[in-house]
Amino acid sequence: LDRIDALDGTIRAYIDVGGERSVFAERALTVAAEVDAGTRTGLLAGLPIAIKDNLCTTFGRTTCSSKMLENFHSPYDATAVQKLEAAGAVIVGKTNLDEFAMGSSTENSAFGTSRNPWDTDCVPGGSSGGSAAALAAGLCLGSIGSDTGGSIRQPASLCSLVGLKPTYGRISRYGLVAFASSLDQIGPFGWTVADAALLLQAMAGYDRRDSTSAPVDVPDYLAELDVPLKGLRIGIAREYDHAEGVDPQVKSAVDEAVKVYRSLGATTVDVSLPHTKYGIAAYYVIAPCEASSNLARYDGVHYGHRTKEPVTNIFDLYSKSRAEGFGPEVQRRIMIGTYALSKGYGERLYHNALCVRAKIKQDFDEAFQSCDVIACPTSPEPAFKVGQKSGDPLAMYLADVFTVTCNIAAIAGISVPCGFTTDAKPLPIGFQLLGPAFSEPKLLRAARMYE
Ligand code: GLN
Repeated sequence: LDRIDALDGTIRAYIDVGGERSVFAERALTVAAEVDAGTRTGLLAGLPIAIKDNLCTTFGRTTCSSKMLENFHSPYDATAVQKLEAAGAVIVGKTNLDEFAMGSSTENSAFGTSRNPWDTDCVPGGSSGGSAAALAAGLCLGSIGSDTGGSIRQPASLCSLVGLKPTYGRISRYGLVAFASSLDQIGPFGWTVADAALLLQAMAGYDRRDSTSAPVDVPDYLAELDVPLKGLRIGIAREYDHAEGVDPQVKSAVDEAVKVYRSLGATTVDVSLPHTKYGIAAYYVIAPCEASSNLARYDGVHYGHRTKEPVTNIFDLYSKSRAEGFGPEVQRRIMIGTYALSKGYGERLYHNALCVRAKIKQDFDEAFQSCDVIACPTSPEPAFKVGQKSGDPLAMYLADVFTVTCNIAAIAGISVPCGFTTDAKPLPIGFQLLGPAFSEPKLLRAARMYE
C-alpha cells in the first residue's frame, strides 16, 4: 500500500474516484489481518491482487472508468471476485481501463491515462492497462483483467507480463460489466506463467449465475506445469507470418522465440487461417452491436449518470444523460452498433459478420488438426506514446489484428514476454500462443516451456 502511495501518482494504475483507494486500503488491511490470524486461508492467501474496475465489488465503486458509473456501488460481487477473496487474495485496489473496456491504450478512460512503467511517456496498452501497469510497477503481485478482443494479452505484451485469455465460458462472467457478451472473458496477468496459472485456478469453474459459463471440470493447472511437453507442434500461420505493419523488431523477437522452441524439441507446422484477414472487420461489427444493446441499460433512470439540465420529456432525459455520461469512443461504438443492427442493415452487416465468425472458427478447428498451438506476435508494435494514436480510431483498431480472432473463435490465448526493443529506453515485446477451447493445461505448459 505504501508503494502504491509512492508510485501511483506517476503510473496512475489505480482508480481513485471519490477517495476509492483508501476504501480499498482499509479493506485490504482487514483481509490481510484475517490471513495473519489464520481465519482466512487458501491458494492465494495474503497475495496482493489488483482487479480491473469493470468487475463488480460491493466494496468501493465499480466505475468502468466512465462518468456514467462514477458513483455506482454494486449490490453484489462478481463471481471471480468472490472466488479470489475466498482463496485468500487481498484485493488492494481497482484498476483503470478504457471506458467500458473499449480501447487499446487506457486513453479512453474518463479518469486519466495509465502509464507504462517501462517508459512513462508510453501507454501500457488496454483496455486492461491499469491492471498491467499495476503489476509491472510492482503495485500488486498479480492482477485481473477482461479480454474482449485482446485487452489482457496486448497490455501484457506491452508491459512484459504473462497475460491469459481463457476459453470463453471458463471463468464466470457474472458481475463483469458486459461489453460484448459473446466475446468477453475474465483472465489473469502474472509475472510468470505459474502466477497466471495460480490465478486461473482460483477463478475457473462453472457458475449457475452465468448461463454461458461452461460445465467443464477444472483441471489442476499447477500440477503439470513443469513437465516439459514432448513433441509440441507449433503452427505458424502464413497469414500472420506475412502480415503487414508488423514492427521489424517485433517480428524478429517472435521468430527468435519460435527458434527457442525448436531448440527445445518442438516442431513447426505451416498452417493457414484464410479468413483471418476479415477478423478486424467482423470484430468491429459484432462487438459494437453487442455493446449498443448492453449499454442501453444506462438511461439515467434505473441507474447511472442523470443530467442536471432541464429536460422536457423522457427521451430528452435519456439523450442528455447519455451524451454527458459516455465518452467519445463509447458513443462511437453505440452509433456503429445501432447502425449495423438497424432494419435493412442488420442483414448485410451483422449477419455477414456472424458468417465470417463461423469461418474464422472453422479455420482454427482445421489448423488445430495438425498443431497443438499457433504462435504469432501479440501486438504488431511495442508500446506507443501517449497521444500518438488517440485521434485516429482506425489506427487503434488495427493494433488488434492478432488478438481479436481468439475471442471470435472462443478459444484460448496467452501472451508471453520474449524480449525488448533496442531503443534507448527498451520496450517489451511479447508473443502469443493460441490453443483450442479448454486447452489451457497444454497452453500454459507450452508457455512455461519457453519461460
Ligand atoms: N481493443 C479492443 C477494443 O477496443 C479490445 C478491447 C477488449 O478486449 N476489451 O474493442
